[in-house]
Amino acid sequence: MNTKLKALAAIAGAVMALSSCFAHADAKNPKIGFSIDDLRVERWTRDRDFFNAEAEKLGAKVFVQSADASEQRQIAQIENLISRGVDVLVIVPYNATVLNNAIREAKKAKIKVLSYDRLILNADIDAYISFDNAKVGELQAQGVVALKPKGNYYLLGGAPTDNNAKMLREGQMKVLQPLVDKGDIKIVGKQWVKDWSAAEAMTIVENALTANGNKIDAIVASNDGTAGGAIQALTAQKLGGKVPVSGQDADLAAVKRVIAGTQAMTVYKPLKLIAAEAAKLAVQLVRNEKPAYNSSYENGMKKVDTLLLKPIPLTKANVNLLVEDGFYTKAQLSN
Ligand code: BGC
Repeated sequence: MNTKLKALAAIAGAVMALSSCFAHADAKNPKIGFSIDDLRVERWTRDRDFFNAEAEKLGAKVFVQSADASEQRQIAQIENLISRGVDVLVIVPYNATVLNNAIREAKKAKIKVLSYDRLILNADIDAYISFDNAKVGELQAQGVVALKPKGNYYLLGGAPTDNNAKMLREGQMKVLQPLVDKGDIKIVGKQWVKDWSAAEAMTIVENALTANGNKIDAIVASNDGTAGGAIQALTAQKLGGKVPVSGQDADLAAVKRVIAGTQAMTVYKPLKLIAAEAAKLAVQLVRNEKPAYNSSYENGMKKVDTLLLKPIPLTKANVNLLVEDGFYTKAQLSN
């Protein structure tokens, strides 16, 4: 390169550095918009609290919004966060497929976007963080199969608007399909549960019990909320504790059911870990630093850089882990 070109390149570099400095004027104290599907659900309040605590340590300010299971509300809230000038959006989508326009707006405003726990589809997001959902599904099926290796199975899926629901089902089928092929297991029915609703799960299982003359031997439920609904329906037929049911989240009520023996297992996902890692990742994105990803997912528009965390199966045998981890106190679990 001759000296003139070199000088030009240096000027161009300086201008770019300066403009990126203006685009991220708040890199030292980033503003994070945290758009959560539904803070009425226990687990998400914990995610929020752990996230806020870590973000504060990193010098960031967090604006939290709950869409309360409404896609219109979530879109409006994201637009509002954009106009408040956040530097990065962290989103737990209610509906995975309807956020592309809102995210396009964010990208135009040079706002980074991190998909939290649930993958946003067909949109230009920067990164994704989650627990390995296919693995969660495998653990759920394995937990139930361990207690009922043969018989009639019912599959209670998650919300059809949530990409996790599909990944969980894939993981569950990885374990169940070979047993179906062998003739050990028969899947007598399956349903997705709108909004992961416990009440809807209860109605579905009531109907399934009626349709099968109560001959259901195991239920693979995709989270603790829906497991709770299923167990209510089973208990009404005096089948509580006889039909193994899986779950996910280690919700307090579910852990108590695991201790009491009415729920076979749950999957513990250390929320402090995902929340803290997500806060770090969000700040790194604003600061244009390179986060340590360990996976990637195709979301229909692009291959998304992903940080996947490890879920842990939880039964009565290792329930103490929750106390050791500070997730619950001993007193919480014993009353
Ligand atoms: C999460 C689960 C949660 C469910 C319902 C899923 O996307 O991964 O942890 O139970 O949503 O809120």
